Amino acid sequence: MQNVNRRQFLKLAGAASALAALPRAVGAATTPARVVVVGGGFGGATAAKYIRMWGGNVQVTLVDSNPSHISCILSNLVLTGALPMSKITLSFGSLKSKFGISVLQGRAVAIDGGGNTLTVSTAGGNQVLPYDHLVLSPGIDFVAPEGAWNPNLTPHAWQAGPQTTLLQSQLASMRNGEIFVMTVPKSPYRCPPGPYERACVVADYLKTKRYTNAKVIVLDANASIQAEPVGFGNAFNSTHAGMIEYVPNATVLSVDSASRSIVTTAQIISNARVLNIIPNQKAGAIAAALPLNAQGFVAVNPLTYAVAGYPNIHVIGDACAVPASDNKAVPKSGHMANSEAKVCADAIVRALAGEAPDTNVATNSACYSPITAKTASWLSANFNYGDIYDAAGNVKGKGMHRVDLGEADRANGDNYEDMFTWAKSLFSDSYA
Ligand SMILES: Cc1cc2nc3c(=O)[nH]c(=O)nc-3n(C[C@H](O)[C@H](O)[C@H](O)COP(=O)(O)OP(=O)(O)OC[C@H]3O[C@@H](n4cnc5c(N)ncnc54)[C@H](O)[C@@H]3O)c2cc1C
Repeated sequence: MQNVNRRQFLKLAGAASALAALPRAVGAATTPARVVVVGGGFGGATAAKYIRMWGGNVQVTLVDSNPSHISCILSNLVLTGALPMSKITLSFGSLKSKFGISVLQGRAVAIDGGGNTLTVSTAGGNQVLPYDHLVLSPGIDFVAPEGAWNPNLTPHAWQAGPQTTLLQSQLASMRNGEIFVMTVPKSPYRCPPGPYERACVVADYLKTKRYTNAKVIVLDANASIQAEPVGFGNAFNSTHAGMIEYVPNATVLSVDSASRSIVTTAQIISNARVLNIIPNQKAGAIAAALPLNAQGFVAVNPLTYAVAGYPNIHVIGDACAVPASDNKAVPKSGHMANSEAKVCADAIVRALAGEAPDTNVATNSACYSPITAKTASWLSANFNYGDIYDAAGNVKGKGMHRVDLGEADRANGDNYEDMFTWAKSLFSDSYA
């Protein structure tokens, strides 16, 4: 395993921005091609921006249910009060004014794949948008656990916004001796290190309050820690020893939000002070009409992000499933969504110009995880298009093969500062 130098991977988002200097005009067609993008998160915002930058005469409409995007990235720091919500609220303003993207606030409710139209429910009624290419980046939806789960009582805060504020206020109401219980969904899920990061920042917050008898119980549906096992293992057993209890193989059997109680295959807990249920995940609802894999995500071609049988419908970001070597899955991260969006944008611009997609494709991901109020760790992974392998090492087809996995040696203050530099670079590459 080769380590990626921290400084090297900080440049990744910057390197992607440099590609912006290479516009690829789409011929001199008089009628502009129409691309509709659903979802203004890291995938959709980046795809819309880069199609406009590289595509020349292309009309791009970005559809999102909300007037701006609230980033999950850094949202665990909003929970603890380290950051205000405004720092993770990303405006669509530059996408409109600098890149000429039409932004429509509304909920995409139906795709007519034969007629090439998307129906959007808006405050003023339904609008039907014709498209030449449709890009979907709707993120995730949840698989409701058995029992009586109500996210307004036991929030997930795995889509940032009101859920973040709710969990923040529940955490703030905790007192010494009380327990914060959280679940880790079955893989694959959004941001593999994210739940463990949350356990750490919550524990750190409770320690700062001197609630030495408070506890964070992490009920993991997986058999082991899914990202940075050494780093988070140290965080649980050393940095936050006595405060965090990690429980693997805890499949959720039922939840009762009203009494904040949960039954899992490993533990039963009644009357937790805070119950942060992060349920199992699947592709965002608008993608559900497309062919889904067994885990509920949309399998795509990693050269174009097109869906089998729908060459002009593309799915990127957390909602898609990219063929990859066994045990080397492409992670569901904002950085990866940004990276996939550029590959998809390039493929669309080439298709509109009558060209074949590029086959020399690489994607990358990075996640920074605060461990305390002053330290952070990081994880990065790089993928190249080519042969992918089964568990025995035999070629099983073509897809994205992980060529690099790097992680911080230990959590420290430099990483904490670099986290903001990296986030600023990613936010600006997607939205500014
Ligand atoms: C706590 C936490 C920490 C994280 N930390 C990191 C990190 O350090 N690094 C990293 O790279 N990633 C991180 N992530 C993961 C990252 O947030 C996601 O992977 C990323 O947001 C995925 O982008 P997306 O475009 O697929 O979806 P999203 O960002 O969820 O965007 C989807 C958008 O689509 C809109 N939408 C959905 N359906 C519709 C519809 N039908 N009509 C209209 N609009 C619709 C939504 O309103 C939303 O704005 C973290 C996640 C969490 C929860």
